[in-house]
Amino acid sequence: TIGMLCLDKNGDIAGACTSSGLSYKMNGRVGDSPIIGSGLFLDNEVGGAVATGMGEAILKSVGSFLIVELMRQGQSPQQACKEAVMRIIKQHPNYKEFQAAFIAMNKAGEVGSYCIQKGFSYMRYKGGKNDNFPSKFYF
Ligand code: ASP
Repeated sequence: TIGMLCLDKNGDIAGACTSSGLSYKMNGRVGDSPIIGSGLFLDNEVGGAVATGMGEAILKSVGSFLIVELMRQGQSPQQACKEAVMRIIKQHPNYKEFQAAFIAMNKAGEVGSYCIQKGFSYMRYKGGKNDNFPSKFYF
C-alpha cells in the first residue's frame, strides 16, 4: 500500500492510498485500502491516518478511523497510531506472523507512526526538505 497525507498552506488535510492487495490473495478479496475508516480516514477538523499491512486485521480494528477519533480526543498522532496497533495485537494471538502499520498527521502538521514489526519507515516532506523516519514498532 502507498498511503499519503497532505496538509496545505490553508491548513486543509487531504489523503489517499492505493494498494494491489496481498500477494496470492483470493479472487474477489477486498482489503482495507478501499474501505474508508479502515485503510484511510480523514477529518478536516482533526487530521488523517493511513494503514498498510494485513488488511483483514486492519479492517477489524477500523484503525484509521480509530486513530482520527483518538487524535480528536487529544492524543498525538504517535500515541493514536500505537493504540490502534495495540488493539490489533490484542485481537490477534498470531500478530508476530504479519505486519500492520499506520501513519497519522494532525492539523498542526505533527506526524506519527506505529507498526507491529520492525522495518517500516515513512517520509515527511516539509519546507522543501524530505525526512525519513523509522516507525516505532512493537517487536
Ligand atoms: N493493506 C493491503 C491489503 O491488505 C496490503 C498492503 O499493505 O499492501 O490489501
